[in-house]
Amino acid sequence: MNDDDRFMLQALREARDAAEDGEVPVGAVVVCGGRVIGRGHNQREMLHDPTAHAEMIAITAAAGHLESWRLEECVLYVTLEPCAMCAGAIVLARLPRLVFGAFDPKAGACGSVLDIVREPRFNHRVEPEGGVLAEECGHLLKEFFKARRTQVGGNGQDSGPGGDPLEGLSG
Ligand SMILES: [Zn+2]
Repeated sequence: MNDDDRFMLQALREARDAAEDGEVPVGAVVVCGGRVIGRGHNQREMLHDPTAHAEMIAITAAAGHLESWRLEECVLYVTLEPCAMCAGAIVLARLPRLVFGAFDPKAGACGSVLDIVREPRFNHRVEPEGGVLAEECGHLLKEFFKARRTQVGGNGQDSGPGGDPLEGLSG
């Protein structure tokens, strides 16, 4: 198993923690020098905070650990393609590399809807790599939304950041 798969599994573990709390299952870890220095999972419901995405929490934890806002030596792993807010935070943190699992055709800002991390007019660009353990990452989200649709009676509304991120996918 390569490093990317290994760290994505850790992000998946975070995502499962989110699902157990009834949160949309997205998880993230920040890795520096082969070590996880920040982790987080989506906590929007619990914290009543629209900004409490997995990536934001993991980035804040990593910066606290390093006592620096610059994450120039770090890699962020996240189970779902980051949204516009998180992609912005990834650029601001000067992360050189981003690895994500499932693509988000409805809200992804790392190539799907927007491409904030590779925007040439910004003063920092991030090298994204999508599709790492995409099946596992996407499966977790699909199962979560399937269960929730059954619970709420089937209209599928309020289904998370930008709606059900995988609704548009055929698989
Ligand atoms: Zn986000």
